[in-house]
Amino acid sequence: MVIPQLIEHKRDGQALTSDQWATLVRDYAAGKVPDYQMAALLMAVYFRGLEPAELAALTDAMIASGDQLRFDGHPVPVADKHSTGGVGDKASLLLAPMVASCGVAVPMMSGRGLGHTGGTLDKLESIPGFRTNLSLQEARAQVDRLGCAMLGQTPEIAPADKRLYALRDVTATVESIPLIAASIMSKKLAEGLTGLVLDVKTGSGAFLTDPERAVELARTMIGLGEARGCPTVALLTAMDRPLGRACGNALEVEEAIEGLRGSGPADLMEVTYTLAGEMLVLVGAAPDMTEARRRLEASVTSGRALETFARIIEAQGGNPKVVDDPGVLPQAEAVEVYRADRSGVVSSVEPRRLGRAIIELGGGRNAVEDTVDPTVGFVITVKPGDPVRAGEPIASVFAQDEAGIARGMAALGEAVAIGETGRLTPLVSHRITARGVELLAEGR
Ligand code: URA
Repeated sequence: MVIPQLIEHKRDGQALTSDQWATLVRDYAAGKVPDYQMAALLMAVYFRGLEPAELAALTDAMIASGDQLRFDGHPVPVADKHSTGGVGDKASLLLAPMVASCGVAVPMMSGRGLGHTGGTLDKLESIPGFRTNLSLQEARAQVDRLGCAMLGQTPEIAPADKRLYALRDVTATVESIPLIAASIMSKKLAEGLTGLVLDVKTGSGAFLTDPERAVELARTMIGLGEARGCPTVALLTAMDRPLGRACGNALEVEEAIEGLRGSGPADLMEVTYTLAGEMLVLVGAAPDMTEARRRLEASVTSGRALETFARIIEAQGGNPKVVDDPGVLPQAEAVEVYRADRSGVVSSVEPRRLGRAIIELGGGRNAVEDTVDPTVGFVITVKPGDPVRAGEPIASVFAQDEAGIARGMAALGEAVAIGETGRLTPLVSHRITARGVELLAEGR
């Protein structure tokens, strides 16, 4: 295979064959194609896109680069949820134990913070002792025993994606619909699922800010899932403000536990129940969304979901007492209240600014090898459209020291705008299936 010729083809807008994609991905995963050539090819894909047959071949080659979980003959259906990434999005922490306690197995494979967005693995690792690097064998055994495991992408799953992803991250080729779709779906399709629900974020804090592009991404991923025997549904959800109140790893775990106790913020509970409900219906564990919601709410009010979370934490080496005592979580050295600087209406709470500020405070990464401070972040109690009075407390900064507090306060000053008017866009705006796009709420 003459790689410069393939790059030239793609650069000039021609399609590569399925065999060419299969060989390229196999050789790249084996270290036989250098990063500089793959980077050039990725940039050509970024500009030229992929034909459907190329996308299928790329995804299949990425799946084939590693092992797969198999649940053939499993006594209960197997489902997962994946979010395309946001700020304050701790829905996975609530949803996995809720769905597992409703009789659906959840082998949840998540990622770390990426760009300005937070990652489920970093949040879970703020629980003292919690181990996310389970092998596929350990994950499988835990799913059999507890109905759920919460792990990172193992070296066995789609290793080609792991290398390609790291390369895309440093070559400005992340925001490409076919590349995002192949990356996410190669990992999810290796989980051996009965069904998959995608939370595709849209708005200023999402990777794809434009709802039309978010819908296109959803349709692309659904096409890949359905063609490989994995029924897939997507919801478009708002990421033009943080989800819930807490942003930052340990703070989000604390809020997720409040949610599992039934007292989480309304927007977080709504998104979680809706995504979890779709999971139950998709795999046939509930006849419709009304019944799914009833069962999920019962899993919370009965304490079963929280108990399942405690069991998962204990099985993965974490301190399960955290579900009764948030004081078990690491605590920030410095905390300060932020007050509204004028009276008016909140016009925006900018998630991208807050996500970047968490990285500046030490709660995210600038380089892959950076360690993350789990304690830092924000709790913001207002949403766009809320009226506020000058001097009213509307947020808190959690930092390592006074310099961090000053940085956090400055970030809040930029992220939270107060004006004459403000409007909350719909939380869940579209439902996308293989049959088409359903508009659930106007106003995006
Ligand atoms: N998440 C992934 O796993 N891959 C992408 O390309 C983007 C988000």
